[in-house]
Amino acid sequence: MKLYEELLSLIGDRDRVSINETVLEQHGKGVAYHEGHMPDVVVFPISKEEVSQVIRFANEHGIPVVPFGAGTSLEGHIIPVNGGISLNFTLMNQILSVQPDDFIATVQPGVTRDQLNQALKKYGLFFPIDPGANASIGGMAATNASGTNSVKYGVMRDQVLGLELVLADGSIIRTGGYSYKSSAGYNLTGLFVGSEGTLGVFTEIILKLQGIPEVVSDVKATFPSIEAAGKVATMLLKAGLPIGKIELVDQKTIKVVNDYKKTSYREEPTLFMEFSGSGPDVEYSIELAQEIVSGEQCASFEFENDSLKRAQLWEARHHVAFAILAANSGMGLMSTDVCVPLSELSNALSHTREVVEAYSLDAAIFGHVGDGNYHAVLPVDPNSTEQRKRVEEVHKQIVRFALSKGGTCTGEHGIGIGKKAFLIEEHGDSLPIMRGVKVTVDPKNILNPGKIFDSVTVAPQHN
Ligand SMILES: Cc1cc2nc3c(=O)[nH]c(=O)nc-3n(C[C@H](O)[C@H](O)[C@H](O)COP(=O)(O)OP(=O)(O)OC[C@H]3O[C@@H](n4cnc5c(N)ncnc54)[C@H](O)[C@@H]3O)c2cc1C
Repeated sequence: MKLYEELLSLIGDRDRVSINETVLEQHGKGVAYHEGHMPDVVVFPISKEEVSQVIRFANEHGIPVVPFGAGTSLEGHIIPVNGGISLNFTLMNQILSVQPDDFIATVQPGVTRDQLNQALKKYGLFFPIDPGANASIGGMAATNASGTNSVKYGVMRDQVLGLELVLADGSIIRTGGYSYKSSAGYNLTGLFVGSEGTLGVFTEIILKLQGIPEVVSDVKATFPSIEAAGKVATMLLKAGLPIGKIELVDQKTIKVVNDYKKTSYREEPTLFMEFSGSGPDVEYSIELAQEIVSGEQCASFEFENDSLKRAQLWEARHHVAFAILAANSGMGLMSTDVCVPLSELSNALSHTREVVEAYSLDAAIFGHVGDGNYHAVLPVDPNSTEQRKRVEEVHKQIVRFALSKGGTCTGEHGIGIGKKAFLIEEHGDSLPIMRGVKVTVDPKNILNPGKIFDSVTVAPQHN
């Protein structure tokens, strides 16, 4: 109660400081399988000055602060494991400027990607990072998100030119700027992007934009095996075609979608692709793609230019998450997120299916084949410790396989709570430097504590 009163006196608006039980619950549980923990108070700031005041106050009193964007992250990122203040950015949702001739927009962190793209249409521009959910730009920057477009445009870290952020002591700094390139000192923007709210809290984000392509065409092709589909994906990429997206869904996952949607999609490994660019380029690319796949046991090949029909073509891919949720109602979901070198992707997908079946589990398996990143989405029964252990064991085996091939435990979702042990396996040697950065910028460990690594309160020991 004392914390609430003190924050209320800082913010001065009862509507924006909440200890309502429902509001606390909404901020204490992620969308995945992790155990929740409620914050003590939720604050809805409207300016960088308020963010700074709240964080300075929290730092003085050693109170945890957990930034909250849209709450769609998948590794328990927004769960205030030690209580404290959940800082919800929904009201800081202004697009501050669009500089169409510079291909740059400056936004507050609570702007969502749909909101931004809606506003950019009139300029013939768009923002390409597309995680499956309508996430906030602040959350996307904090998790270094990506999605289906990353094969063409890269990931969030490639799009953020600069940041305004509040550090743990309440000071406000800026990193980067409005130029597309800079060699001025350490790349702090790149460090804060992907820091999951543990190093600083963004109050402004400067973003690179892209021109909307003249023509977009979508293709769906099916194959007798994952290996054949994976091989074709690599051949298409090597041919240098203007591929905007290339996704692979395994046959069992298509079956889950068919059962859910009552559809009759061919239950075969399926590649979903998008080609974008000028009209003649795209037309030529589709012809060449058809030629390439026909030499590789392709069982079916369809393409569409019309926007409605394109959406229908991708329907099976877009319904994967909902289908697996519907097939397992009442369960939590764990989404693995490894990324491997491209040449290992088919093997990794087959290995994942084998492991899932060996443990008698159900999973949707689909991948962003253009960059070697894929997901196994596994239902987790919250009431069964034994089943959860099996899911965790499967996750471990998938990660170990990826690491053994030079890959990573997370291509886009981040570490959060769920992958801390894997980060040690993957980056044990450089972890002391990561911890050192954390201790330097947040010595009292108030910013999203318990994420990325366990509590860091002492200076790192170098081996
Ligand atoms: C159906 C579904 C599909 C998804 N598909 C993808 C996908 O394809 N690719 C992908 O990358 N992700 C995907 N995700 C995960 C999720 O959408 C991303 O992780 C997204 O970036 C989270 O954004 P958010 O606004 O929801 O952030 P939140 O969940 O609110 O927060 C995420 C992290 O960012 C921090 N944070 C939030 N705001 C700030 C701020 N202002 N300053 C500093 N830190 C901040 C939080 O503390 C937390 O650590 C998917 C999720 C769902 C539910």
